[in-house]
Amino acid sequence: MREENVKSRERMREVLNGESGGVYFYINFREGSWYVEKNHIMPECMESETDDPVQAILKSGRVNAGDHQLFVDFAEKLRLGVESGIPDERMKITFRINSDDGSSRWYSMRLFLVKDRYLRVTEAVGRLALMSDREVMERNILYYYSADQNPTFFVSLIDKCIKENTDINYAFIQFDVVKFKLINDTYGEAVGTELLHFFQDTLGVYCHEGQLYSRLTADVFMVVTPYNEVEDIYRFIRGLEKRLSGYNGMKYTFAFGVYLMDDRSLPSRTMGDSAAIARMAIKGNALENIGFFNVSLKSDLINRKNIEDNMKSALDNGEFVMYLQPKYSISANTIIGAEALVRWNHHELGIIPPSEFIPVLEKNGFIIKLDEYIWDCACRQLRDWIDRGLKVVPISVNVSRVHLSNTGFIDYLDGLIKKYSLPKNLLELEITETIENINVNVMIKKAKSDGFTLLMDDFGSGYSSLNTLKTTPFDVLKIDRAFLSSSMESDRGQKIISHTISMSRDIGLDIIAEGVETREQAEFLQYCGCDAAQGFYYSKAVPVEDFEKLLFKHEELA
Ligand code: C2E
Ligand code: CA
Ligand code: CA
Repeated sequence: MREENVKSRERMREVLNGESGGVYFYINFREGSWYVEKNHIMPECMESETDDPVQAILKSGRVNAGDHQLFVDFAEKLRLGVESGIPDERMKITFRINSDDGSSRWYSMRLFLVKDRYLRVTEAVGRLALMSDREVMERNILYYYSADQNPTFFVSLIDKCIKENTDINYAFIQFDVVKFKLINDTYGEAVGTELLHFFQDTLGVYCHEGQLYSRLTADVFMVVTPYNEVEDIYRFIRGLEKRLSGYNGMKYTFAFGVYLMDDRSLPSRTMGDSAAIARMAIKGNALENIGFFNVSLKSDLINRKNIEDNMKSALDNGEFVMYLQPKYSISANTIIGAEALVRWNHHELGIIPPSEFIPVLEKNGFIIKLDEYIWDCACRQLRDWIDRGLKVVPISVNVSRVHLSNTGFIDYLDGLIKKYSLPKNLLELEITETIENINVNVMIKKAKSDGFTLLMDDFGSGYSSLNTLKTTPFDVLKIDRAFLSSSMESDRGQKIISHTISMSRDIGLDIIAEGVETREQAEFLQYCGCDAAQGFYYSKAVPVEDFEKLLFKHEELA
């Protein structure tokens, strides 16, 4: 059995060749055997005595209801590939797996297929990876509006149409009602539903035989139409808009997004997604309600202007949320603190990671307001734990360098400590120094003498340096994620980390490593004398409720 594992493992490496990250598995369909390379983020539902990992996930009942049909189709396609052959070299799916607590996480699964000469799949090497916030966001941009109830039929119609009529150009037109929710709120849901039925019926009458149409989800509809000139499309849309408007004297407007097919070989789902992106991008434009897709649109959706237009209302509407990432003692395997990290839960785009918006907010100064908000959340959380008589661990907050130009931020922090009457040592400050600047040094010294615990963030990233250590009174040195992972790769790098740790101990600095992703890293750090760690190996940044679960789990154990 063990020998077989070794064989599978080697076979897996051979096929993967260079791919990295996530949980790997290997299935040999001829022999009916499989092998899963275990590591810490493996969802339990992958493992089964009787089923290969794909079947195991399918049968576990853990696939989120919203993605279940998709997963069934995926598994079915694989089965057909094993039996009769498919031309694909790879298959990919993104889907959610439910946790016990009712939450779910996004995973991406890729299969690399090995086939015989009849194109039948004989072996598959798979990679299942937890998706990063950024990947989930990109996926959400693409799928938010096209999470279609029964996509297969409509998509197959479109595919057939495009395939059979090679001389015809097609345009994908998606539309929805701007602020449809308002209609439900104003007239009631029954009227909203009636209106959507009216749209559906109107489409049936307005579209001719060569045009395909379908309601995708809620108030989103799509029409795929042949065209010769762009003028045809404008004419079609204006005509349609006229018929759809003014139902029972109600007032509402539409947003139309158009994708002009330029590459027939693209999956039609992708073309529909492009129309969706165009539709989302045209919203908020006062003069136009028809938008055409172009490649830069997608990145524009999260561009500077969009962020700036939305940041104030986002703060007022509570779209900014504090997540907590636990910090662990490596030796005791218990939580010893947390870092507060902001997430933007955008009403249309879903979760946007800070790397997308913090740089913009730092440029326009809004980061000051946002940081103050997150600091307040952190303090309120600490007070809440104290009031509930629970175990309290310190929370560290990020202090953007924008604050460091004057002492206002220290007064603000003092105000919070008073407002929530907290012991000062529970709130820690993470500061990344990016420039050697006397003024900044003064601010940092002031914060220190005021009694705050100071962490030097991103040590080793090229910003914070040994030199700053000499001139600034930090309490804790935080080893940067990239510094850690790149150093782990060579002996020389490991020596640097090891010496950094012993040096900081020598001068009386505490130390914590961030971005710890593997057990080897944790063990190495512990071996070097660094006992505090933060990273995906332990946990991602999670909502407060999830953090509390982790924290109290450890309380019980203790
Ligand atoms: P940071 O302060 O260095 O925060 C650590 C980042 O590394 C977080 O990304 C965290 O999710 C990520 N991380 C933690 N462990 C791992 C790991 O094992 N592997 C990998 N690949 N990543 C890991 P996040 O939350 O996206 O934050 C990015 C940066 O945005 C932060 O870097 C910080 O500079 C900034 N930021 C986040 N929240 C705030 C805030 O409230 N205020 C300010 N001013 N900046 C913030
Ligand atoms: Ca930080
Ligand atoms: Ca950091």
